[in-house]
Amino acid sequence: MAERPYIVGNWKMNGTRAMLSEARAIDRAAQRYMKAEVAVAPPYTLIHAVHREAEQIGVGAQDCHAGAEGPHTGDIAASMLADAGAKFVILGHSERRGDHGESNELINAKIDSALEAGLRIILCCGESLDIRDAGKAEDFVLDQLRASLPHIKDPIERLTIAYEPIWAIGTGRTATIEDIKAMHAAIRKLLDETYGEEASSKVRILYGGSVKPENAGEILSTPEVGGALVGGASLSAESFLGIVVAA
Ligand code: PGA
Repeated sequence: MAERPYIVGNWKMNGTRAMLSEARAIDRAAQRYMKAEVAVAPPYTLIHAVHREAEQIGVGAQDCHAGAEGPHTGDIAASMLADAGAKFVILGHSERRGDHGESNELINAKIDSALEAGLRIILCCGESLDIRDAGKAEDFVLDQLRASLPHIKDPIERLTIAYEPIWAIGTGRTATIEDIKAMHAAIRKLLDETYGEEASSKVRILYGGSVKPENAGEILSTPEVGGALVGGASLSAESFLGIVVAA
């Protein structure tokens, strides 16, 4: 397992330049508190500005196009993200899958493109409440991963997985510790089978879904939880840093 927990803020479609002061506060605190690896994914419009402000935290994006630069109005290529200062990209978030009909195959192509651009990847997976209630959560999540994981072993350390049950995102509901433990163990087993145990051990599995300062300590001490992907609570430096400190 990678040593330091990885705490990533996903700002989603939030943030104007006024948010730069939050990024500065997060960065200053992260410089003093080195026990966790801290990163934020602002909207495209702020990536370069946050990159310029940040000395300690990693800056990333929330999506990219699967192809190279070219005639795709409104899209952003992975190479352009890297040029703007992004170090990683979140791919396959359930809001992208839901709002834009992204398939596992498309996400797989985006991963290839992002790896080629030198970015790290946070690959998201997670089931809906219907699927969980039908007892099919594990099969569903593992199928998502089988169809979207990169086929290459190298550079495996640039891959992170984020398990985010859809019903826990932005709802205030978190999965139970038992559910998180079981799902993360199943994902680890799949990574072991896919890449071999040594390579798999370099891949962190984050949990996401209503993580906040009050529940972060317990979630982050669960076996196989290598960090958190945080939405709502990452929008203020105070609550985000509460999670970082709990890590
Ligand atoms: P949330 O979002 O923390 O607001 O539930 C998590 C995510 O979607 O990454």
